[in-house]
Amino acid sequence: MPTSESVEEYLEALWVSEERGEKLAHLTWVADHIGIAAPSALEMLKKLEKEGYVIYKTRQGIELTEKGRKVAKRIIRAHRLTEVLMKEALKTDIQEETVCGMEHHMDEKFMDALCTLLNHPRKCPHGHVIPKGKCCV
Ligand SMILES: [Zn+2]
Ligand SMILES: [Zn+2]
Repeated sequence: MPTSESVEEYLEALWVSEERGEKLAHLTWVADHIGIAAPSALEMLKKLEKEGYVIYKTRQGIELTEKGRKVAKRIIRAHRLTEVLMKEALKTDIQEETVCGMEHHMDEKFMDALCTLLNHPRKCPHGHVIPKGKCCV
């Protein structure tokens, strides 16, 4: 079953938290990042744990499982490739709202084609690392 957009937003947030050097993500940070109240975020994260996407360590934090990491990587890649597309190829401003919409609707074939068109960029315009795809080797 494909993951829903809201699930993907959480997994993406956890990836970003880890990238910032946090071993475990903090509930309040994740809630802030997504723009949702902490109790609602907690409820969602508990659900994600049940579905095997994250491990929630009470009073310590949240980490991605391999299953969650796979989804997060795909979304992060789509997000950052779209930013490069806007900035470098289309020469427009980065429209975060559009990026966050598009990132949920790109399959791997499309992303690899986009990545190839953009010459396999390693970083987004903000300097964040773009995960490699099959096309990048
Ligand atoms: Zn970026
Ligand atoms: Zn590539």
